[in-house]
Amino acid sequence: MDTSTILVTGGTGYIGSHTCILLLEAGHDVIVVDNLRNSDVAVIDRIETICGRRPLFIEGDVRDTPLLEDILSNHPVTAVIHFAGLKAVGESVSIPLDYYSTNVGGSISLLTAMQNSGVHTLVFSSSCTVYGDPASVPIREDFPRSATNPYGASKLMIEDILSGLHTSEPGWQIARLRYFNPVGAHESGLIGEDPIGTPNNLMPYLTQATAGLRGELNVFGSDYETPDGTGVRDYIHVADLANGHVAALDYLEKQPGMVTVNLGTGNGVSVLEVIRTFEAVNQCKVPYRIVDRRPGDIARCWADTRLANDLLGWKALHSLEDMCRDSWRWQQSQQG
Ligand code: NAD
Ligand code: UDP
Repeated sequence: MDTSTILVTGGTGYIGSHTCILLLEAGHDVIVVDNLRNSDVAVIDRIETICGRRPLFIEGDVRDTPLLEDILSNHPVTAVIHFAGLKAVGESVSIPLDYYSTNVGGSISLLTAMQNSGVHTLVFSSSCTVYGDPASVPIREDFPRSATNPYGASKLMIEDILSGLHTSEPGWQIARLRYFNPVGAHESGLIGEDPIGTPNNLMPYLTQATAGLRGELNVFGSDYETPDGTGVRDYIHVADLANGHVAALDYLEKQPGMVTVNLGTGNGVSVLEVIRTFEAVNQCKVPYRIVDRRPGDIARCWADTRLANDLLGWKALHSLEDMCRDSWRWQQSQQG
């Protein structure tokens, strides 16, 4: 892909920061807009330490359409990668208006600014949550979609908004990327996921519990219809996920239109397999106990990755061992 200027919303966040690194390493200029609601501006310095170049950082809210128009008219932006949003399922049930405002309102604001500025290339962070409880696995992109909480509903709405926009203005180039379960961290140990408060997701809770910062990891349910009874997911290293965004930008440059693609490894891994692999790779003991199922969880979920392979020429390269090793290195670097 030719080098150009890419606007990354939510670029100081977990997936955004890893993507910024790959974009800078590929020679692009990067502008980050983030309101720092769930991230720290120090990430920009760490990106510079890793790549020797830094993104231009603009603190701001994606719902601020004039700000976005200003950025798009003052810089030669050719494409936008839209990560900014709120992502905790449980929290979305407690503060739904915040979720719809940030995720749906923020996306409409961004699309309006792009439309007004003549920038028509967008890569959007969707999620495998849009598949609800799938009837079978692996999950293909044409499976039915559903939502059971405001977070999932917001992703469904944004996907629909993008498809409506593309129907009315076919000149838009849009990739809707459905992520499976991102884990891991940059191999430098400088960038990773830094959840505020008690983590809800498996890997950050597991690393914090192993580091002695939390009580035992609760393994939610051992009576699912899975090989060992615990929940099965498609964990994907965040570096592979980030790389999928670069592949999507390359694809859109050559092949205008709208695509919807799963980004996963295609492998289903149980909670107990994650624990055992983590212990073996890192030579440590994960404190855990089996408890009841967590309400709302599904038994199994993994991606059919053929479309990503065929269309984007992309596939995940990191193993579960890499994910466990890098997650632990990040956790340890956090504790100094
Ligand atoms: P993150 O919270 O680390 O990053 C999101 C960033 O957006 C944060 O830096 C936050 O400060 C910023 N932000 C939030 N509201 C904003 C606003 N109104 N204006 C500007 N910036 C704002 O989350 P992440 O894991 O990097 O997720 C990125 C995207 O990927 C999100 O849209 C999320 O829904 C989606 N996604 C994440 C996962 C996952 O498990 N991490 C899975 C599927 C999809
Ligand atoms: N999980 C668990 N204990 C935790 C967090 C998660 O056993 O503290 C399990 C959860 O039941 C699911 C898997 O780990 O089977 C992944 O959960 P996570 O919340 O990370 O992602 P989800 O796929 O639910 O969005």
